[in-house]
Amino acid sequence: MLAKPSATPYSHNYDSRLMERLLFRVAKRWVAGYNAEGAIEAALDTNSHGMSAILNFLGEDITDAKLVDRTVNEYLLLMDLIGARNVHGCVSVKPTQVGLAIDYDTCLQNFSRLAAKARELGQFMWLDMESFKSTEDTIALYLDLCKQYDMIGVAIQSYLRRSASDLLHIIECGGKVRLVKGAYHESKEYVFVTDEEVNANFSKLMKMLFESNNYFAIATHNSDLIEQSIRMGKQHPKFEFQMLKGIRDELKLELVTKGFAVSEYIPYGSQWLPYSVRRIMERKRNLLLLARSLIQQ
Ligand SMILES: Cc1cc2nc3c(=O)[nH]c(=O)nc-3n(C[C@H](O)[C@H](O)[C@H](O)COP(=O)(O)OP(=O)(O)OC[C@H]3O[C@@H](n4cnc5c(N)ncnc54)[C@H](O)[C@@H]3O)c2cc1C
Repeated sequence: MLAKPSATPYSHNYDSRLMERLLFRVAKRWVAGYNAEGAIEAALDTNSHGMSAILNFLGEDITDAKLVDRTVNEYLLLMDLIGARNVHGCVSVKPTQVGLAIDYDTCLQNFSRLAAKARELGQFMWLDMESFKSTEDTIALYLDLCKQYDMIGVAIQSYLRRSASDLLHIIECGGKVRLVKGAYHESKEYVFVTDEEVNANFSKLMKMLFESNNYFAIATHNSDLIEQSIRMGKQHPKFEFQMLKGIRDELKLELVTKGFAVSEYIPYGSQWLPYSVRRIMERKRNLLLLARSLIQQ
């Protein structure tokens, strides 16, 4: 397990640690703390509100083989804890935290271990989708794993031009998809640029999912897209909504009250910075929140 950074005024890193602590003050609305125990507590709280929990141990682009092993072990421990503490939930894993930043085969081996453990415990497992440089390999990993394991799903990003063809392929293979807009800064060559285009593609991909027979998740906080999916989903019981911890909490509970399945994605761990920066950049108001927190220190 990675340690919580400690700040001492006498350290030569004092300024950066102080900045990190101030940033964490804002980030902690989106992350569940530094360790698995904190994540399990947050998951049980999510369950008590009628939602399922999706736990992610933060980390990405890991090239150190020992650190990759530690990350895999963390997920194995987390799955045991989910079972032992009767959490209604599962894990979601980034390929580049379990070996894809080293090579494809290492990652496939690690995912196979995790998928086997998930199956043994009767749990689901999601593969997060990362930046465009990992897209091709992540789809290939998912399709490889699908040959042996059926309780797994993968995120597909509506901002990518290639996603309609990836989705078609996954649907044909009976795969399970979490539809998201996409959270990385990508070259214009590969993505739809305007909000209108990204939303229009989200609607198109959502329609493909509703017309399929496969289980899927609509992972957005966007009210228009959620309303569209409610309209499209009248005849389709096999889907759930997914939202991130700390975002649109009232809407989550409204959907639960209306009888929809809702999962909350809960990240934790000391590598919270890149994740939090993505959340901050998604919304101008979060930049103001950050600025206010820095001024009030
Ligand atoms: C469960 C889940 C899993 C995800 N997994 C992945 C993944 O594997 N790969 C990937 O690239 N992306 C993933 N994402 C992130 C996703 O791609 C988007 O970046 C993110 O969801 C914001 O887009 P949106 O669809 O919610 O809509 P937006 O139109 O951006 O937001 C709609 C509304 O939601 C609220 N909102 C949105 N973001 C924030 C925020 N940061 N802070 C406060 N309020 C906010 C605001 O009220 C906003 O008006 C995931 C998202 C979810 C919900």
